This record gives sequence, C-alpha cells and structure tokens, in this order.
Amino acid sequence: MATIANNLQGVRARIQQVCARHGRDPGAVRLLAVSKTFGPVAVAEAAAAGQCAFGENYVQEGVEKIAALREAGVAGLEWHCIGPLQSNKTRLVAEHFDWVQSVDRLKIAQRLSEQRPAHLPPLQVCLQVNVDGAPTKAGVAPAEALAQAQAVAALPRLRLRGLMCIPDPQPDAAAMRRVFAQAAQLFHQLRAQLGAPEDFDTLSMGMSDDLELAIAEGSTLVRVGSAIFGRRAYAASA
Ligand SMILES: *Cc1c(COP(=O)(O)O)cnc(C)c1O
Repeated sequence: MATIANNLQGVRARIQQVCARHGRDPGAVRLLAVSKTFGPVAVAEAAAAGQCAFGENYVQEGVEKIAALREAGVAGLEWHCIGPLQSNKTRLVAEHFDWVQSVDRLKIAQRLSEQRPAHLPPLQVCLQVNVDGAPTKAGVAPAEALAQAQAVAALPRLRLRGLMCIPDPQPDAAAMRRVFAQAAQLFHQLRAQLGAPEDFDTLSMGMSDDLELAIAEGSTLVRVGSAIFGRRAYAASA
C-alpha cells in the first residue's frame, strides 16, 4: 500500500517534471496538502515527510485538527482555509488559520481583518475568482476583481497575496489549460494594476488531477488532496 510519504514524493516528482518541461523553477511552485476529511495522524505523517502547508475546507474540522497537531507537539505547520466561508465562522478562522484562500466578498474580508488577533501576524489572503464564470460557483467575477482586490489590500490586518480559482472540469486538457491561462492573465493584469506589490505573488490553481496543466500556465501554488492522502471516504460536514 502506498504511504503518505510515498505519495508526497510522487506529487513532488510530478511538480518537478512539469516545471522542467516548461522551464519553470520548481521552487516557485508551492505544494499545499489538502487534508480535509483526514485526521491528525495523517497530517502528522505528511509533516514527518517534510510537508508543512496544509489546507482545510471545513472550519470546525480544521480548527480541531490544528489544536490536535499543536498538542501532539508538531510545530511549524502553516494552515490554509480553502473552503466557502460564512460570516459566523470568520472569527474562528481569523484566530486559528495562517491563510484564507477563499475570500470572495468584501464583507468576509472586513470581518477577518477586524477579528484577526493583535498578537498574530496579518492573515495572508487570496481573492477567489470565478474565472470560468460558472453561474453557481463562489468567487468574484473577473470584472469586479480589481475593485475587490484594492479594497481587500487596504484592510489593516490582512495581506493580499494573490488569486485562487477552482474552475469546473472541462471536456479536455486543452480547454482546461485555456481556463488556467485566463486566470494567469487576470493575475498578471491585477498585479500590474495594483502597482506590482511584492507580496502579491500567489496564483493558487491546480489539484490532484490537473496540477500539470495549472503549472504549465503559471500556477504558483497547487492544492493537492487525494494524490497525497488517498480517496476521501466520506464527506465531512461544515
Ligand atoms: C478538496 C479540494 C482540493 C483537493 O482536491 P483533490 O482533487 O483531492 O486534489 C483542492 N482545492 C479545493 C478548494 C478543494 O476543496
């Protein structure tokens, strides 16, 4: 049976191969291990294999896991909230997470900024954009991204790090790449419009099945769950 350490090695090898094919520095693509539905033991196993950044979709589950790992003495982990965020959950997120990639409206960003405890560094955030325009999906419309990004960047306890997108699966790889290319174009355009701030450096796109396509189009952070931890056996509830 494949272990988490073996799977991690396999994912890192995939990232290196695609970077080599496209002339990209593998050090410029971060790996976020998406640990939703898997327990603290799985996270500790990945951490022992050198993985330090973890993503969670469900706030309560994430907060419990963060506490469990701290109690187990596993230090130096970085936690990213990547799931849809409701107003009544922002305080827990502001108090426990390091990053929020799924900021999709100003009201949520304002609450996160107000609720970020003074003793912690600013919360690192990405604006989630609905790059393929799927009607039911979360995310800021591309046409509104600049205004939203400017407003979020002005909040005192947040640091705007870039964009995140979760495009719907497309009929083929070429179509998927085109969506990732659109996201990359929006990212570079926004970056220029914001005055090229140094820490606006994150384009979060690509998952287990399509990380190669996303990296080929400029992803700087891939969010990988099942290729590291295995298939999710149940759906956790929010
Ligand atoms: C679950 C999830 C992932 C990981 O998906 P895999 O296909 O298991 O790699 C990445 N990003 C988001 C936002 C997710 O919800």
